Amino acid sequence: MAATALPQDTLALLKRLRVSDGAFASKGLDAHSPITGETIVTLRETSVAETEAAIGRAQSAFLAWRKVPAPRRGEFVRLLGEELRTHKADLGLLVTIEAGKVTSEGLGEVQEMIDICDFAVGLSRQLYGLTIATERANHRMMETWHPLGVCGVISAFNFPVAVWSWNAALAFVCGDSVVWKPSEKTPLTALAVQAITERAMKRFGPEAPVGLSEILIGGREIGDALVQDHRVPILSATGSTRMGKEVGQKLAARFARAILELGGNNAAIVAPSADLDLALRGIAFAAMGTAGQRCTTLRRLIVHESVYDALIPRLIKVYGSVKIGDPRQAGVLVGPLVDEAAYHGMQKALGEARAAGGTVHGGEKVDVGAGGFYVRPALVEMPEQVGPVERETFAPILYVMKYRALDQAIAIQNAVGAGLSSSIFTLDMREAESFISAEGSDCGIANVNIGPSGAEIGGAFGGEKETGGGREAGSDAWKAYMRRATNTLNYGTTLPLAQGVSFDV
Ligand code: NAD
Repeated sequence: MAATALPQDTLALLKRLRVSDGAFASKGLDAHSPITGETIVTLRETSVAETEAAIGRAQSAFLAWRKVPAPRRGEFVRLLGEELRTHKADLGLLVTIEAGKVTSEGLGEVQEMIDICDFAVGLSRQLYGLTIATERANHRMMETWHPLGVCGVISAFNFPVAVWSWNAALAFVCGDSVVWKPSEKTPLTALAVQAITERAMKRFGPEAPVGLSEILIGGREIGDALVQDHRVPILSATGSTRMGKEVGQKLAARFARAILELGGNNAAIVAPSADLDLALRGIAFAAMGTAGQRCTTLRRLIVHESVYDALIPRLIKVYGSVKIGDPRQAGVLVGPLVDEAAYHGMQKALGEARAAGGTVHGGEKVDVGAGGFYVRPALVEMPEQVGPVERETFAPILYVMKYRALDQAIAIQNAVGAGLSSSIFTLDMREAESFISAEGSDCGIANVNIGPSGAEIGGAFGGEKETGGGREAGSDAWKAYMRRATNTLNYGTTLPLAQGVSFDV
């Protein structure tokens, strides 16, 4: 696909993915590709009134869907997974075009959607409650899990489709309907996923009600309408900590359940015993993959002073030689930044790092002859953790610092606002166990001999502190999408009260 033909080729791709022409308009939201910076097509935006109608349809759909047995709901998600398998290549390419991810990462994102569908199908027969010992004779106490309602999903540009599926696949099997407000920077992939979901609904038949899956195209105001609507009892919001602060408070004010998946400022510690070859590869992927635009991107490297000189010059060399360019080309590992604002944000952070005594390697704009904002990833040697090192800049900047003792390294790792992901490279069992212990990393994800990036769906995903505390995907994250009821049944002929209370009338 030649860069100049990008808009036309993308329109053909959208047709193959059966995105309806009705989505396009002469005025509205411009959909761009960061590969060239070109506008691909203009989309019709959802109005506030249409948003309210969509939530109404989803509310009616919920009332019907909650009655469909969970394993049948799982069958719908199985069909969704099947459709995703069929369209994996096209949807993966669209992710590459719209989010700028290299080919294997675009395909990987769709694979993640397929994986969570498989997980949810199994889960649909395992929405277990407990039976609990009761203190009263001839009584039984148990927990049951019930569908919750309309699940709102607000997602970020950098995982334009996977984040929806982490939520939606679970919500569907849990008996909820879903209303999705994707990022205004990646509406095309969202429309393609909605078309795929509608095909799965069609194959499933009339048991899948109209409104089971709704999509809203637009910016924050539309997201806000979803956040404020009392018919939405649960909302999952993925994006910046700034967004989470606004959204979280509004949800709390109306007692809605919030799953907040916000920014990260992830670190890795390289200990004296580390396998440096393995660490080098782990660091390179975690720090430069997706051009530093993952929530789990490695942003801070804390290196023991005894291995600093053996590792950092090698890493600087890798930073100098990594292939940057059109993410569709074979061999390219670093694609474009999402837009010009991301480029300026990166340059601003590098300026602040220099002013704080940092030595910057790389970080300059790279002309790949395609338009767009391409940069050489930056490695910045810092004397200490100050200024821009303490916050997330959504670009490929790796700040490197030295440490002497492990407790000092863990203190540095924990001394930032975000608490998403972390890792340690060590072959020392005591160090590894300390790092993942109660006194170790304070993050939602703590890895050993793997970078902080690239999670599998089987584990619960999310982070603490300013990352918002939400959990999605695997383990028991499904419980957030259901309501729990405690049921006590008396099959006796007397009415004993709990705690020995007597109330004889
Ligand atoms: P963003 O906060 O600018 O936007 C995210 C989404 O929130 C968009 O759909 C946007 O329209 C919506 N939004 C923004 N303000 C809103 C408001 N006041 N009310 C309702 N909706 C609102 O984030 P972005 O630039 O798209 O994505 C990058 C950020 O997302 C980074 O901080 C990254 O770390 C974070 N992220 C976190 C995770 C995670 O799982 N923790 C995953 C991916 C991205």
